[in-house]
Amino acid sequence: MIEFENVDVTYPGGFKALHNVSLTIEDGELLVIVGLSGAGKSTLLRAVNGFVPITAGSVKVDGVEVRGASRKTLRELRSNVGMIFQTFNLVKRTSVINNALMGRLSKVPSWRAMTGFWPAADREIALQSLERVEIVEKAYVRASDLSGGQQQRVGIARALAQEPSVLLADEPVASLDPVTSHTVMGDLRRINRDLGITTIINLHFLDLARTYGQRLVGLRDGELVFDGNIADVDDE
Ligand code: ADP
Repeated sequence: MIEFENVDVTYPGGFKALHNVSLTIEDGELLVIVGLSGAGKSTLLRAVNGFVPITAGSVKVDGVEVRGASRKTLRELRSNVGMIFQTFNLVKRTSVINNALMGRLSKVPSWRAMTGFWPAADREIALQSLERVEIVEKAYVRASDLSGGQQQRVGIARALAQEPSVLLADEPVASLDPVTSHTVMGDLRRINRDLGITTIINLHFLDLARTYGQRLVGLRDGELVFDGNIADVDDE
C-alpha cells in the first residue's frame, strides 16, 4: 500500500510542486494521474521512491516512511519500484537483453554487472520479462534498431526484470503515435492484471485514461483536485 498524507514537495529554490496531497493506493491497484504539463504529476510519482524533496507530510510504501529515509532504506525501496520513462532511457548501443538485465542491477553484486557475466537465473528473468511484452525475439538486436513502441516495451521489460511490487510510468506513451500508445497502455494494463503489480501511470490525455484506467487522480498546480472513478470524469 502507498500512502500520501498531507504531502508537500518543495524544490531547492523554493518552488512548491505539491501542496498538501493525501492519497492512498491499494496493493495491485492501477491508478492514472492526469493533469496539464507542470501540474506536478512527475513530482508525485517520484515522491514514491524518494527522488524529490518531501518537505511536509508523509509518504509510506508498505509501511516504510520515504521522507527522511536512510540511503539503505531508499536503495531497498527503489529496488522494488520499477520506473518507465517517456523517452525510454535505454542504452541504445547495446542489445535488448542487456537493457532488460539492467533491471537486475540492484539484485546482483556490481562486479557481475561490470563483467557482463550474469547468472543464468537473471538472464532467464530478463528473457521472461521480454516475453511478457512480446519482444523476446528481439533479445539480441541492438536497442537502437527498434521502433519507439518496441523500445518502450523494452523499457517495460527492464522494469519487470526488477520483479517490482510497484511500477511507476511517467508519461509512458507521450513519445509514441496513437496506435502504438494503445498497444503500450494495453501492455501496462495486462501486466497490472496478470501480475498484480501496483501501477501508477501519468498521462496528459484523458481519452487514454478513460480507455485503460479505473481510478483517476487529477492534479492542478500541485493540488489534488479529483480522486475517483474515471467513468465519472468529463473533460471539464
Ligand atoms: P508534470 O509532470 O505534471 O509536468 P512536474 O512534476 O514535472 O509536472 O513539475 C511540477 C512543477 O515543478 C513545474 O512547475 C516544474 O517546473 C517544477 N519542477 C520540477 N522539477 C523541478 C526541479 N528539479 N527544480 C525546481 N522546479 C522543478
